[in-house]
Amino acid sequence: MEKGMGKVWLVGAGPGDPELLTLRGERALQKADVVVYDRLVGQGVLSRIPQGAEKIDVGKRAGLHPVPQEEICRMLVRLAGEGKRVVRLKGGDPFVFGRGGEELEALLAAGIPCEVAPGISSALGATAYGGIPVTHRGLARSFHVFTGRTREGKLDLDFSLLAKLEGTLVFLMGVGVLPELCRGFLQAGLPPAMPCAIVEQGTTARQRVIRAPLGELPEAAEGARVQSPALIVVGEVCKLELGWAQQRPLAGLRLLVARTEAGSSRLAEQIAALGGEPVVLPLLRQEDRDAPWPDWGRFSVAAFLSREGVKAFFRLLRRKGGDIRELAQVKLAAVGPGTAEALEEAGLRAGLVPGQSSGRALGELLAGCCGPEDRVLLVRAEESDEDIDQALGTGQAAWESLRVYRTVACAPEADWVDWEGLDYLLFASSKAVRVFGELFPGLRPCPAVCIGEKTAQAARGLGMEVLVSRRATIPAMLELLAEEKKRRRL
Ligand code: SAH
Repeated sequence: MEKGMGKVWLVGAGPGDPELLTLRGERALQKADVVVYDRLVGQGVLSRIPQGAEKIDVGKRAGLHPVPQEEICRMLVRLAGEGKRVVRLKGGDPFVFGRGGEELEALLAAGIPCEVAPGISSALGATAYGGIPVTHRGLARSFHVFTGRTREGKLDLDFSLLAKLEGTLVFLMGVGVLPELCRGFLQAGLPPAMPCAIVEQGTTARQRVIRAPLGELPEAAEGARVQSPALIVVGEVCKLELGWAQQRPLAGLRLLVARTEAGSSRLAEQIAALGGEPVVLPLLRQEDRDAPWPDWGRFSVAAFLSREGVKAFFRLLRRKGGDIRELAQVKLAAVGPGTAEALEEAGLRAGLVPGQSSGRALGELLAGCCGPEDRVLLVRAEESDEDIDQALGTGQAAWESLRVYRTVACAPEADWVDWEGLDYLLFASSKAVRVFGELFPGLRPCPAVCIGEKTAQAARGLGMEVLVSRRATIPAMLELLAEEKKRRRL
């Protein structure tokens, strides 16, 4: 490779759902210095672009014109020439009506090293999530993908040829010409009863599937106010109604996840597994704090107040040359199941976990079971509140704190976030709410779902409409969202 020369990866982002990004695409994205993306790339995929990478939007945004194709090609050549690792991120697959071929031509002609990560085209992804198998035994032995783009204002399709194909016909970019399309097929002899479907915003939280026979499709689309991006499917397979995507517990919900980086990606995974669409915007970062390694002979209980505290505790142990066997006689307590799980991952079992996940509940539990001979070490964050101290004060045990980390605000770039398209903001700490309020003053795009009362108070303080989880755990927040989805009949 030429010295100092960068490289361009043409990456297909898939039709929207970030879970449909390929492993190859994801790996290229994580190493990118610059990401040049289109309008159709999903919010969830955009939120996977690493914090430090430069983002360039070359797609159409309401009212603004897209960057012309030649200029995009020149931009890619220039960026790679500057030695950068460039990801050219495109909706669906780069070569399916994505002009990826032209970009690859220009790059190779300029001597730029290139790689391609194919993507799941909407022609396959949106149909699959819409419950329409593109081929099916006895119904369709082939599928064909067309563009509805017109040439000089005319649909350039040979309808009599298409009508003979007997396979499933998929039209991209066809919403604007739907009436002409249907008329063309009817004139070419397809029966008005031929099953058809439209999948709008397929694979995203906003997915809609509209089914109607060919003769009634334009009216059905108009009635439903179908908008781009949507694809049109013509063929017998449309009579199968194999809807599965909408049945998932969080389907239809686009959720902003605003925690720390590690916390956000964990929560995003859980949301995706339940069919929701996570948009990740990490607002907080955790830093290790220096602290002396305790003399464990002085303590009878170690109480961990957060999952991150457990992780930072073990990093402190390593930095200080400690050994976990020093805690052999020390009882372990955890504030809740997540923290207990982090201890378990390290091979430690917390014998004391309160029924409710809160500092106060843990403090009360410890105050109740510790005597005057006990000394408790609280493993916690620099900024952790005093609830646990107040509760411990009612008991007989003495306690000290080991403050192993601090949480600081980070200021992520957020121009790419489509605030209007969100259903809920998820907050798992009052600190995240505060940082949100500082970064985006006055922004209240949708209701907030808060992990507990304290977080809820902070959100109400910003004038947000708030829902509060019944228990202060992430699974309980997700349960609440699933109930909301049912209530709203999404
Ligand atoms: N390269 C893309 C297609 C680009 S052309 C791909 O492989 O999917 C843009 C058209 O693709 C849109 O007009 C629409 O017809 C279709 N499309 C893209 N994303 C879609 C989605 N999520 N749901 C339905 N159709 C989509």
